[in-house]
Amino acid sequence: MSSMVREKQSDIIPLSRLDVGLICNKALSVRFMTQLKSDLDAGKDVFPSIFGLDHVKRRLVEILMTGHGVLLKGDFGVGKTHLSNAIFTILRDYYQHNRVFTNKGCPVRENTIHLYNYLNNNDVIAYDNICPVCRHKYIEEFTDMDSIMTERVYLSEGSGFARVQGNEDIEPERILGMYHLHRYAEIGDPFDPRVLEPGKIAQSSGGVLFVDELGLLNKEAQYALIQGLQEKQFTPANSRMTFPVDFLFVATTNNINEYQIHTAINNRLVGLRVDRVGLDDEVRIVKKELEGKGFNVDFPELFLEFLVDTIQLLSDSTVYLGPRSSIRASQIAAASAVLEGRSVVSYCDVKEGLHTEITGQADEETFSTCTEMLAKDFPSIRDFLLNRLPSIENVAAYFDLFDDFDSALENVDSEVISPLEEMLPEGERKRSIVISYLDAYVRTCP
Ligand SMILES: [Zn+2]
Repeated sequence: MSSMVREKQSDIIPLSRLDVGLICNKALSVRFMTQLKSDLDAGKDVFPSIFGLDHVKRRLVEILMTGHGVLLKGDFGVGKTHLSNAIFTILRDYYQHNRVFTNKGCPVRENTIHLYNYLNNNDVIAYDNICPVCRHKYIEEFTDMDSIMTERVYLSEGSGFARVQGNEDIEPERILGMYHLHRYAEIGDPFDPRVLEPGKIAQSSGGVLFVDELGLLNKEAQYALIQGLQEKQFTPANSRMTFPVDFLFVATTNNINEYQIHTAINNRLVGLRVDRVGLDDEVRIVKKELEGKGFNVDFPELFLEFLVDTIQLLSDSTVYLGPRSSIRASQIAAASAVLEGRSVVSYCDVKEGLHTEITGQADEETFSTCTEMLAKDFPSIRDFLLNRLPSIENVAAYFDLFDDFDSALENVDSEVISPLEEMLPEGERKRSIVISYLDAYVRTCP
């Protein structure tokens, strides 16, 4: 911790004290690559909350290492935001571990190396990478290197991380920023920070710009992104000043909105199709989303598998059912168990969750076909359990000897049930869970 404090003290230093050893000479994509390699070498999982999708994760980081923007395509429901957050975390960690300085007050947090190279070495190429505000403050009104202050860069939301939720109403100014002419008239200084209001591109400079549902942005807003993506610069609305910018770009689109992405922007991105995760990974996602919801009930593993399997099976037969449907159905099932005062989720709760979620996805037109589909195509829990736990048939045969399920439970020896218990994974070997499977097998739900 003491080294943190020392670092803090040196967060603002004059340009004259930034020597070659302290100055960062890496482009943004190289900073990303450096941190990623170091995380991977240390055995760190850089996508801790995303199950499956291994080839997608690999390709996503490969594309970003080249400095190109990525368009994630697909109806995968969960994971898109997690993927972009993970990219941000990698980059944020780079700035925690490596010192990168910007000119104090720079609206795009440009790397100080450009101003340093221009002032020290008269490097004319470096001049193009200095923003108009810094040119004005530090070059045109020449100040000596002792009085030019530089500031260490850290990333946070709004400063090196910006997100845009695609919708029709987003004005291009939100993306490009805005030059306020009336404030210029009042204040008189064209470089005053109150005159120039940064947009999403300026906010993401030095970090990540994430656009969720790119196809839902109107045409003007999509075109506003192009200059930034192609030329690594942007021009705020009402202004002729061009600002240099360096950011990693990650956008997403659902299949149904993909056609609304304009060719000009599509051509500048590398598309990456994300398929739905497999059954096992979707079960893990659903489990993770159930945790921390406070239901405090046991959700038997095979019921969860049945639930996810059913959602995947019935998807697209009348309505689209993505991973979010699995998550919601499982939570409704848990809520149903809570209402019934059960400590273990029963099959009837699962059925309740599935019916509620699936019919809830239907609209007025598809509702009746959807309920017909459920009556006709809903899979059999008996077949599912028999397939996973073959000995359930023998155990259930004992139960048939009694008038009803409850009196059977009172009379059947625990030895009768134990073969079934042994077939279950370790965490599930509880009488209460075995009974809920038997119940599902023997009885029907209303
Ligand atoms: Zn600047």
